[in-house]
Amino acid sequence: MVDQDHIAQYTKIMLPVDEARHTPSGALAPASVEEIQRILAVCNKYKAPVWTISTGRNFGYGSAAPATRGQMVLDLKRMNRIIEVDADLGYALVEPGVTYKQLYDYIHERNLPLWLSMPLPSAIAGPVGNTLDRGVGYTPYGEHFLFSCGMEVVMANGDILRTGMGGIPNSNTWQVFKWGYGHYLDGIFTQSNYGVVTRLGFWLMPKPPVYKPFGVQFDAEADIEKVMEAVRPLRIANIIPSAVWVSHACGTSRW
Ligand SMILES: Cc1cc2nc3c(=O)[nH]c(=O)nc-3n(C[C@H](O)[C@H](O)[C@H](O)COP(=O)(O)OP(=O)(O)OC[C@H]3O[C@@H](n4cnc5c(N)ncnc54)[C@H](O)[C@@H]3O)c2cc1C
Repeated sequence: MVDQDHIAQYTKIMLPVDEARHTPSGALAPASVEEIQRILAVCNKYKAPVWTISTGRNFGYGSAAPATRGQMVLDLKRMNRIIEVDADLGYALVEPGVTYKQLYDYIHERNLPLWLSMPLPSAIAGPVGNTLDRGVGYTPYGEHFLFSCGMEVVMANGDILRTGMGGIPNSNTWQVFKWGYGHYLDGIFTQSNYGVVTRLGFWLMPKPPVYKPFGVQFDAEADIEKVMEAVRPLRIANIIPSAVWVSHACGTSRW
């Protein structure tokens, strides 16, 4: 896709900078690992830089647009299979185009005793892009990269790398034991351009019997330091096991 109508969806950056700085040269939406390998071979030949997105909902950080003008967007939304969900061991293995909504529906339709951890724009965003961007959710499993387990990555030369136990022939513990043998590599594929992640495994929390979020409202903005002093030891001691969200009435926030 190189015509303006198609490219438009990859140019809405929602950032206070000139959109022209992030206009891609084109976009390609492969449906398989083999197609990605063929695309990378051509991009290598013509030295065309590639920008990979999974569901492309990176709102606030450039959305689906590339970091620099002229990159070729590799949009993986068509690779959207939920490959496996294991309710006993509590993990999922998915392709990049899978959305949180898709996974939520899958779990609910089968009445699996599992819970998802999601970022705020959850339904239309997805676990692969969010995790590779080192995103966060609001359950005890909210540090998403920490709870990821096993990647499949297409390298720039077309080689396929499976991290952790994925590199062991006939392994059945790829999504269970992160560390495998030797070097741990997964981190270098987050917020980087070293490879195209085509599968990601991650752990899912057992569905709790009760869910009880709570909020504390304080009127004076100046009290935020005292609030932090009170909350920090509870968070560090894991008495509050999930993220603490501090939000201003006007909408600014942090976690
Ligand atoms: C109001 C608001 C609230 C938000 N709240 C949260 C929140 O609570 N938590 C949070 O984490 N984020 C939040 N975000 C930011 C963002 O919307 C989410 O992180 C969203 O999940 C990212 O979009 P995505 O999942 O579609 O990832 P994508 O846009 O698909 O990917 C994100 C980035 O990861 C890399 N990448 C993606 N796929 C691949 C791949 N297959 N191989 C290699 N690299 C890849 C690329 O650099 C890409 O730009 C918020 C944004 C807004 C505007």
